[in-house]
Amino acid sequence: MRVYSTQKDPLADILARKYSETADVSAVVQKILAQVQAEGDKALYQLIEEIDHVTLDSLTVSKDEIEAALQTISSDLLAVMEQAKENILAFHQKQIRQGFVSTKQNGVVMGQRIIPLACVGVYVPGGTAAYPSTVLMDVLPAKLAGVKKIVMMTPTDHNGQVPAAILAAAKIAGVDEIYKVGGAQAIAALAYGTETIPKVDKIVGPGNIYVATAKRMVYGKVDIDMVAGPSDVLIVADHSADPRWIAADLLAQAEHDKLAQAILITTEENMIEKVQLELAQQLAELPRKVIAEAAIENNGKIILVQNLTEALSLANQIAPEHLELAVEEPFALLGKIENAGSVFLGHHTPEVLGDYFAGPNHTLPTEGTARFYSPLSVDDFVKKSSYLYYTADALNEVGAAVELFAETEDLIGHARSMNVRRKTNASFSEKE
Ligand code: NAD
Repeated sequence: MRVYSTQKDPLADILARKYSETADVSAVVQKILAQVQAEGDKALYQLIEEIDHVTLDSLTVSKDEIEAALQTISSDLLAVMEQAKENILAFHQKQIRQGFVSTKQNGVVMGQRIIPLACVGVYVPGGTAAYPSTVLMDVLPAKLAGVKKIVMMTPTDHNGQVPAAILAAAKIAGVDEIYKVGGAQAIAALAYGTETIPKVDKIVGPGNIYVATAKRMVYGKVDIDMVAGPSDVLIVADHSADPRWIAADLLAQAEHDKLAQAILITTEENMIEKVQLELAQQLAELPRKVIAEAAIENNGKIILVQNLTEALSLANQIAPEHLELAVEEPFALLGKIENAGSVFLGHHTPEVLGDYFAGPNHTLPTEGTARFYSPLSVDDFVKKSSYLYYTADALNEVGAAVELFAETEDLIGHARSMNVRRKTNASFSEKE
């Protein structure tokens, strides 16, 4: 892992990061989107054969397949998923917003309603690993928001099967329809609709570069949660941190993806060598060693800082997806964090707790976008609609002001819309 020091290295070098190459991917994805838009289901069957080398009889996961999957899942895993569901619901319940109404003495009423999206598509990645945790994290907030129809898209294995744990999680979370489509073609189907797959209002969920690029391209036709890139973690460690635990947490992130980023910022020079040693030892025993090693090589960093103030300044500039504060007094630092998807406080709160179980969402802004994006939440699955009511008297009070505004913008039709009412109201008043 490359070592930097704020005393010796320029800030630009410390912050530099390798990003995924997108030029070729964009052309491939554009072609897939156009094909699905033009040919619907036929294109999906074709693309699944070409890209995933799977021949499907049906795009839909049947009830029988779901029931069969449930039979193969251990009762222990089912119980863990049910408990995770309770934890996720309890956390997200607090995010539910209420509308409001405001009334004035002159009879004017105005307000805002919170309305759930009608139909949402959840993408669940399925290429190199199965992520039942993503099913729970992305579907449960939508359920709490009151979304009427939740459609799940996920690629199959080489036998045309969706992993049993994914189907079990979908059943537990309450997904309405599941389709065996992955990659850019899944995003296209959700955005445009096909004979089998409904067009949705919003697409959420992480995925590889093909999925992320497709989401970016269909944005505007449908809403999306965010464009998720490779995952990242930043650990801030002081003298109280254990190098073994730090190395384990860095590797937990690195094993996700060759482009994942794992960074350690520490105030302790003597911790650097210990963490490096631990990394080497633990890597050797990791089944996903090749991926984790590549991630550490590509984007792994250890940054030596003079104090925690400097550490936090760097953390805020990096805007990590996950920020672990492996320090003696984590709560003293929390208020100073401005840019981070999710913060994990203290030595006994590894990021992995948040990945699966604790309650906060694990679909988080990556690649520095925590500067402006938030974790996936109930808010992602609702829209707001405002309303307004005026009485005749209330309209007369403000009519001239509104007309003046409209005339200033040269929108005489707008001014007349007020004026005809004011005149009618005046003649009513005269009759009285
Ligand atoms: P995926 O489901 O995102 O992608 C698999 C699909 O990609 C395939 O079905 C195929 O259709 C398409 N594809 C692959 N190669 C292609 C090519 N050459 N041309 C066109 N299409 C192609 O699964 P994945 O690849 O394993 O990626 C999962 C990603 O999701 C990883 O980057 C992982 O880190 C990320 N992830 C993130 C989170 C999070 O919360 N941030 C959670 C889980 C997974």
